[in-house]
Amino acid sequence: MSARILDGKAIAKSVREDVARRAAELTARGTRPGLVVVLVGEDPASQVYVKNKDKAALEAGFSVRTVRKSAAISQAELLALVRELNADTSVHGILVQLPLPKGLDASAVVRAIDPAKDVDGLHPDNVARLALGDRGLFPCTPRGCIEICDRSGIPLAGKRAAVVGRSMLVGKPLALMLLARDATVTMCHSRTTDLPAVTREADLVFAAVGRPELVRGDWIRPGATVIDVGINRLGDGRLVGDVAFGEALERAGAITPVPGGVGPMTIAMLLDNTVIAAARAAGVESSPPVVAAGKGA
Ligand code: NDP
Repeated sequence: MSARILDGKAIAKSVREDVARRAAELTARGTRPGLVVVLVGEDPASQVYVKNKDKAALEAGFSVRTVRKSAAISQAELLALVRELNADTSVHGILVQLPLPKGLDASAVVRAIDPAKDVDGLHPDNVARLALGDRGLFPCTPRGCIEICDRSGIPLAGKRAAVVGRSMLVGKPLALMLLARDATVTMCHSRTTDLPAVTREADLVFAAVGRPELVRGDWIRPGATVIDVGINRLGDGRLVGDVAFGEALERAGAITPVPGGVGPMTIAMLLDNTVIAAARAAGVESSPPVVAAGKGA
């Protein structure tokens, strides 16, 4: 058996088309979604991410601006910039590209962002809202994982989900989203005993670890769905996920590739978060609740 390959690129494209349509509706009502990306320093990976975000936001019809600051910026200056953006009513989404250069306190900067404009979903207020099942803005990569399942007709309710990795960026919020969608969730991490035994029980395996091909084919229950968040660059330049794709392909029912799986979804969900924030600022809700069903509705 060979698994169905879940084409994240195609799914992201259709999310972006939906976003562009909602953005055009909002613009026609007088609210053009506005995204500001703050980029501090010269980190080459961040430069590429920011360029891609800018391009995608422009294509969606947003007003988009990148504010570039030198790594020498002080914490106070950066906080003042965030406060200025919080007060600017034409800005609906603020994204401070992480990691920040040494000497800057990323946590304090994230806390300074107005939670209603926190399109990365990292502000403690939004973290709490996700846990409480309240309306908020939630992290883009885990939202992308859920969206891939939803748009591929893969049910979550009542299913056993294993989430490998417990970061605040991916694993933890993903587990909360799955719980809100009535999955039975097991959270795994570096201290989990007999990880393969846990994943073998799961109908859905989400790998967000950062270890190349950690999850082997025989860790997968035949027919399970495998969503691979990992992005790992090997010594020979190849990009691989946290799942041994070739092996898992033979066991899974459906699987995301790397690249071309979860990766393209992250920017698509960032745009989605921005249009949600803009719609709320305009007094309308432009999409179904981000965490639908169960207690998360
Ligand atoms: P973190 O390093 O923050 O977290 C990794 C998690 O994996 C930790 O919880 C850690 O456990 C766990 N872990 C590490 N080793 C093992 C192991 N041997 N067995 C089980 N669990 C283990 O990573 P992120 O969550 O930020 O990212 C994870 C991956 O996803 C990376 O490859 C990253 O590049 C990718 N990524 C992709 C994105 C995309 O757009 N597609 C966006 C964000 C990330 P513990 O807590 O015990 O240390």
